[in-house]
Amino acid sequence: VAKKQGRNLVKPFVSSMQDELAKRVRVEADLRAAIKKAEIVPYYQPLVDLKTNRIIGFEALARWKTASGEFIPPNEFIPVAEEAGLIVELTDQLLRHACTDALSWSSELVLSFNLSPIQLSDRLLGLRILKILGDVGLPAHRIELEVTESAIIQDAVTARIVLDDLVNAGVRIALDDFGTGYSSLSQLSNYRFDKIKIDRSFVSSFETNDKQDKVIKAIIALGVGLGVTITAEGIEEESQLQRLQDLGCDIGQGYLLGRPAPAEKLTTGQVSARILQRG
Ligand code: C2E
Ligand code: MG
Ligand code: MG
Ligand code: MG
Repeated sequence: VAKKQGRNLVKPFVSSMQDELAKRVRVEADLRAAIKKAEIVPYYQPLVDLKTNRIIGFEALARWKTASGEFIPPNEFIPVAEEAGLIVELTDQLLRHACTDALSWSSELVLSFNLSPIQLSDRLLGLRILKILGDVGLPAHRIELEVTESAIIQDAVTARIVLDDLVNAGVRIALDDFGTGYSSLSQLSNYRFDKIKIDRSFVSSFETNDKQDKVIKAIIALGVGLGVTITAEGIEEESQLQRLQDLGCDIGQGYLLGRPAPAEKLTTGQVSARILQRG
């Protein structure tokens, strides 16, 4: 009986693995074609100075718009691009696109761009990014690269070489999703980041959780101590915005302040008072 049951259990498992594999192969082929057709484009979400309520720049967030009009979010295709060895090509294309868009913005606005963790173990990454900036004609100080702690931990030696190439050229570096990785504090003393982005999970729960409020307070104090700008991600509620402003957080980002939007729909300048006071 046991043997029979075992056989029955194994079969659906194997066939679901085959389904997974077939799906993966299909997604990979579609992704390859999408890159060729430049169907993956950057959307932009505003970064807002919480002291002046002015937009200081935009984070580029990749969106795959398929031929059928469906949008596939980055968490679904970036990992596939990484595993399929397509991330270099995709990043180069997206970065070139985003830098070209940024050229048409007001000259003080910054473009923030995400790098995949595995990219920081590619020694030539820094030089390739600088080549793209040079080709497009976007000054290095207009761009900020978002990296995560896990990216640095994977290959610390190469990560330093890459980050040094970029920092020496005037590119700024932000530590993304701060608080969700491990060894955050040691990374802070090993590297000089220009910005720390507090992960959305802290912001979304800090009103209902008094400890979370203290954690955010401490991160902001850390930023002051280290001379690093602090950004809070995922601001959705007026009360969250209020609290972050009271705590002296420098920059905010979130649906309340602006959702990711295509290049042609960007509004720059002062975020409307109406949006900021919406309760
Ligand atoms: P991230 O860099 O932490 O980006 C912030 C994510 O939070 C974005 O999701 C954004 O749309 C979302 N978000 C912003 N404000 C709010 C809010 O108020 N509420 C909620 N619930 N979400 C908010 P998205 O666009 O789906 O991107 C997910 C992740 O994919 C990004 O996280 C980033 O790590 C990665 N990613 C996006 N674009 C690229 C890219 O061009 N290259 C690479 N390597 N990674 C990218
Ligand atoms: Mg980011
Ligand atoms: Mg983030
Ligand atoms: Mg992230």
